[in-house]
Amino acid sequence: MLKTRAYAAPSAKAPLSPFTLERREPGAHDVLIDILYCGVCHSDLHQAKDEWGGAIFPLVPGHEIVGRVTQVGSAVRRFKAGDTVGVGCIVDACRECAPCKAGDEQYCDHGMVGTYNSRERGTGAVTYGGYSTRITVDENFVLRIPEGLPLDKAAPLLCAGITTYSPLRHYGLKAGDRIAVVGLGGLGHMGVKLARAMGAEVTVLSTSPSKEKDARALGASDFAATSRPETFQRLAGRFDFILDTVSAPHDYNAYLSLLKVDGTMILVGAPEEPTPLSAFPLIMRRRRLGGSLIGGIRETQEMLDFCAQHGVTSDIELIPIQKINEAYERMLRGDVRYRFVIDIASLQEK
Ligand code: NAP
Ligand code: ZN
Ligand code: ZN
Repeated sequence: MLKTRAYAAPSAKAPLSPFTLERREPGAHDVLIDILYCGVCHSDLHQAKDEWGGAIFPLVPGHEIVGRVTQVGSAVRRFKAGDTVGVGCIVDACRECAPCKAGDEQYCDHGMVGTYNSRERGTGAVTYGGYSTRITVDENFVLRIPEGLPLDKAAPLLCAGITTYSPLRHYGLKAGDRIAVVGLGGLGHMGVKLARAMGAEVTVLSTSPSKEKDARALGASDFAATSRPETFQRLAGRFDFILDTVSAPHDYNAYLSLLKVDGTMILVGAPEEPTPLSAFPLIMRRRRLGGSLIGGIRETQEMLDFCAQHGVTSDIELIPIQKINEAYERMLRGDVRYRFVIDIASLQEK
């Protein structure tokens, strides 16, 4: 086993602190990766605080991993030592069910194996995420980072990027469509950039009026503060799509009223409490409400290549791991511009 330095949440109520874990020695199909950067997703916080239930402690978060391959197993042909690679939210799945065969491993009928807070198939060993110096991953769940993408700014693509790219593709966003992105945080700012790169006209709906200038710089052509009731009157019936990235409970019904006939609202934000839904905003204009979970491995590679082609990366604030608890507090206040990324060099033995 490979002793590895990490940061873990010891329990739902305690701050993250230094922790040592063991990675498996690479098997025939494994890739061993030295982690360089790891993005900080709001899902890390939800799980470290056990807001979704079922958390396994100590919990080492992190599923926006970029690093360098140091060793590969005897059967690995697609990667070699020195390659720059990524690992997102999934490290394994059954590979045989219909969703897996379709490339949607995130919807595996037997449950995907998450990069952290999950259990390996077979051994049942707990998985630990990217707030750590290295990770052993099956080659089929390793992504290639295209040349030209800055590695720290590419890390958030592995979750925030694919989580916003996948539903825009799946639900059929087209050039010229009008889309509203709700919540300008990690996912939201990627949603703005990706929708813009796909040719859509983007409006940001935010609780933070101070983010207007940034929203426009990211590619939005309009911005509206959701605290103002006139926003919902002004924009009623305007959008083909709404991408809702909000991490806390809020009234979906109000946002649905902003869709055109046949418009689609996509939920990717995952608040811990449910919100009541009225049938009327849906039936009155034949609107749709859908959801989406990250994206499959093949689509994640497609997204990375799309980002390299269109020059799309994340706007980040690079932090040492020692600032992770402060970053979580700021994330809770909506004070993220627009993704924290941990410089894993700060975790190396000095
Ligand atoms: P984040 O960076 O914290 O951004 C969330 C944004 O939501 C905030 O910046 C804020 O934007 C807005 N917001 C926060 N509290 C709000 C409230 N009470 N009312 C209205 N708006 C509020 O989080 P993230 O990393 O982007 O993640 C967002 C959500 O997506 C989380 O629930 C996360 O777990 C989930 N997620 C889902 C998937 C998936 O596969 N579906 C993948 C990753 C993450 P403004 O300041 O602009 O209002
Ligand atoms: Zn995430
Ligand atoms: Zn499966």
